[in-house]
Amino acid sequence: MPDLKELLKELQATDTELHTLTAEREAIPEKIAALEQEINLLSHRLEEAKQKLTNSRTELKLAELNLTSQEETLAKYNSQLFSAKTNEEYKAFLKEIETAERKKNEMEDQIIMLMERIEQEEVQLAKRRTEKETEESKKKQEIQAVKASQSQLEARLKEVREKYERLRKELPANILVLYDRIKKSKHGLAVARILDANRCSACLNPVPTQQAIEAAHSNTLIFCEYCGRILFP
Ligand SMILES: [Zn+2]
Repeated sequence: MPDLKELLKELQATDTELHTLTAEREAIPEKIAALEQEINLLSHRLEEAKQKLTNSRTELKLAELNLTSQEETLAKYNSQLFSAKTNEEYKAFLKEIETAERKKNEMEDQIIMLMERIEQEEVQLAKRRTEKETEESKKKQEIQAVKASQSQLEARLKEVREKYERLRKELPANILVLYDRIKKSKHGLAVARILDANRCSACLNPVPTQQAIEAAHSNTLIFCEYCGRILFP
């Protein structure tokens, strides 16, 4: 006849491991989804950088076209200046030239600003591209590792589940009912140890000396007076 207490202790350890492994397995899809989302984010950031640069280049082309047309306007005004017949007309042309010159200067400033922006955006794009290349393969490796750990986990779960069932078969039915009942009401922990200072390891309440001695030396099951768990030395 196997030692009842040893069986119960082993059942509890197996039960706890089963619980931990199940939780680990349940967390796997979420882990993979999070990594995939990080990969998507890398692509998204790269696309965003590309789009920004494309927009700025279009804006620059447009600004350059506008400048060319402004230069033509200015040239036209300059040639008109010589055809002025009166002093008033001459002054009016001069004013138009002045305005057109100011606009042209503003356009040139705008072009310089755009060129600087494009330069920065090109640097940013290169950065995003490198980031994607390096980070993406890292994340993919991580996903592979998680998937590999999943099959190990499944194998271990199968083993532990079999052990759990085997241990349950070895225990008398009435003890099993007791174990399950305490476990259910005590958040999965039916068994507790007696700590050095004669305290229950689960609820930390004192265990009378006599009970601690019995738990260590007799075959009867001893229960914590406070939390009701089965006590082991
Ligand atoms: Zn207790």
